[in-house]
Amino acid sequence: MASIYHGQVSYQHQTCFLSAFLTGIELTLPHESLSFAWSEVLGAVEEPPLLHPVFSLLLYRQSHFQRLTFLCEDAKMWVAQVQTLLLERRSAESSERPPRKRYLVLINPASGKGQAIARWSQIYPFFEGCVLDIVVTQRSLQAMDVVRDYNLEGLTAILVVSGDGLMHEVINGLGKRFDWEKALKTPVFLLPGGSGNAFSASILYESQLPPTLENCAYLALKGEARPLDLIKVVFESGRTVYSFLSVTWSYIADVDVESEFLRFLGGWRFYIYGIWRLIRLKRYQGTVIYVDEGGLQRVQRGSFVYFAACNMPFLGESAFIAPRSRSDDGYSDLLLVNSSQAGRYRLARILLTEDSGNHLHYPELEYYKTRKWALLPDTRTGRICIDGEVRDT
Ligand code: ADP
Ligand code: MG
Repeated sequence: MASIYHGQVSYQHQTCFLSAFLTGIELTLPHESLSFAWSEVLGAVEEPPLLHPVFSLLLYRQSHFQRLTFLCEDAKMWVAQVQTLLLERRSAESSERPPRKRYLVLINPASGKGQAIARWSQIYPFFEGCVLDIVVTQRSLQAMDVVRDYNLEGLTAILVVSGDGLMHEVINGLGKRFDWEKALKTPVFLLPGGSGNAFSASILYESQLPPTLENCAYLALKGEARPLDLIKVVFESGRTVYSFLSVTWSYIADVDVESEFLRFLGGWRFYIYGIWRLIRLKRYQGTVIYVDEGGLQRVQRGSFVYFAACNMPFLGESAFIAPRSRSDDGYSDLLLVNSSQAGRYRLARILLTEDSGNHLHYPELEYYKTRKWALLPDTRTGRICIDGEVRDT
């Protein structure tokens, strides 16, 4: 049974006639007419009242988020009706009435420049009508503990509003559960709030969507879950950590960790501290072993300035360092620079062209796809970062 609602509203100072019914929403303005498909409607929200009650229709059209705001006396009723129609519409699309989407939302107020909560407020309207369990973390590793003990039954996805570090906690929390095999199939998504948001940058790139916060919300709501590779990292001590993004050593790991005191700069911290670290470039002795695509084991001993094993094309929001990587291709992409091949100047050229992916043209950067690799640092001075977090051996 189709329900029909219609009424007069005012849109950009023009009185118009808005009708909402099961097959579509129609908006008729005196001089022009706009109509939307229900698939484009994400919901409706009541806005904070100005002089008159106001509500907004949230639309997602042609890869862009749109918010149409209407003035009318019965804003509350419109919001309720649009949400009801959306639910009816969803149940009409499937034979069973779909349960409401249920999300666990983990927000790290300390991530990035401290804007995660503000960012969540910005996209919260997308999730109106969903069941949300929101946890604002109060300490490091809390997200891991929450996820380890959480009842995942019926959960649509876990949303992380932070950077890659909190996502790392979530993945490892799932990996520590007694039902880890099943738990690791829980969909996860990053709504970028941190200084390194490589997860969302990579998924948006792979989905061919422009990198906006709204597009992330859109994928989290309407996107379909797909596989994500994990790198299983086993330390000499036997300790196991899962990585969804990267294992780094030498220059990249040092910049990541030592720039922590510049957190207030957001993503700029990596550039600014990166220059300093380049001036004071260190070399790291070690052995890298990997199995190449032909199945042969290769060994490289030497002194390195750059080492990254990547699982996603981006290592930061604009660091497109592993262009040949796909998050589900079953490979780690190894990037190496041997210090006998490159000093400061050559390494700088590589770093400066990473954003465009043009660094692959420099022969001193070695790039291998591998399913199995090992890193044996000679000294314990060089730290290893997993997904941007320091992990002691
Ligand atoms: P960013 O990209 O800005 O570094 P992350 O998501 O990587 O953001 O988070 C950074 C670190 O913050 C992680 O190591 C995480 O464990 C830690 N963390 C989580 N919640 C809090 C909190 N409330 N206070 C301080 N640190 C936190
Ligand atoms: Mg991969």
